[in-house]
Amino acid sequence: MKNASILLIYTGGTIGMKTDPQTGVLVPFDFNDIYDEFPYLRKLNVDIEVLTFKPIDSSNVTPELWIKLARLIQDNYHSFDGFVILHGTDTMSYTASALSFMLENLEKPVVFTGSQIPIGVLRTDGRENLITAVEIAAAKKDGMALVPEVCLYFQNRLFRANRTTKHSAEQLNAFRSDNYPPLAEVGVNIHYNTPFIKRPSSPTQSLDIITTLDTGVLIIKIFPGLTESTFRAMLSIEGIRGIILETYGAGNAPTAEWFIQAVTEAIHQGIIVINVTQCPGGSVSMEMYETGIRLQEIGVISGHDITTEAAVTKLMVLLGRYPSREELLTRLKSSIRGEISD
Ligand code: ASP
Repeated sequence: MKNASILLIYTGGTIGMKTDPQTGVLVPFDFNDIYDEFPYLRKLNVDIEVLTFKPIDSSNVTPELWIKLARLIQDNYHSFDGFVILHGTDTMSYTASALSFMLENLEKPVVFTGSQIPIGVLRTDGRENLITAVEIAAAKKDGMALVPEVCLYFQNRLFRANRTTKHSAEQLNAFRSDNYPPLAEVGVNIHYNTPFIKRPSSPTQSLDIITTLDTGVLIIKIFPGLTESTFRAMLSIEGIRGIILETYGAGNAPTAEWFIQAVTEAIHQGIIVINVTQCPGGSVSMEMYETGIRLQEIGVISGHDITTEAAVTKLMVLLGRYPSREELLTRLKSSIRGEISD
């Protein structure tokens, strides 16, 4: 009898490739043969069951995949101690953030990982990422999961998923979490950063999933030279219910009358506008400069130190879940899964 059981779900991405010994080209790796390829996984004393999706490059991910993953976790929740999801790195932070908001009352680890170099290539980073992700998903203390969160493991660091961003297409430490410390750091041993790990507020509640996402959202990154006509055209797209406004620095945007007027009109039409900084680290504080105060005055909501990936997926989930604007706004302004600092 093994110590823990893990459901390993493979969705695609670079991690799933190996070199064909005959032709030398990269071909998909069959994760069902995982123990043949990586016999040392047996040493983990973990039962691994593998589920393979039709592999896709994560650039093709849509919310349908997030819903499929959420349902799969719910259906298998009582049969496994934890879940490891192999995913392409390009949109991993979006999928992992979305899942963090879609899974309610989670008490088991859901660990996303992938790799920059295919798993079948000698110098791969995927082997270590996979093994450690499984080990973390299986880790328990006094029968309780050590990390009962949706998280992302990459290159020796475990992060809260909804705090991550892919920052490098080249370096093996492809992800960062500028506004929240790692949940674990891996060297010779795995050091869990326990005070920063979120525990369920009231244990023994059953897992609920939210699968009614609203994709009527838009990310607008402002830049010097953005014209009134371009901006207004974006704001008037039919069906848009929420906008992530990526602003400068501590949440600053032009004070030009046309800009303020256009945002004001959008808000009056019922569109939710959230202010998220373009900076990878730091927080929006709209009260700091006149350029931020104007936004606050017209009803723009501060995203504080949320990432764009978390903001856009949180908005999709909340818009789909809460018909009442008041309920939605309360949750949007506060941290519901540790995505915003107190
Ligand atoms: N394009 C790949 C993907 O995101 C990159 C990777 O997996 O690293 O699916």
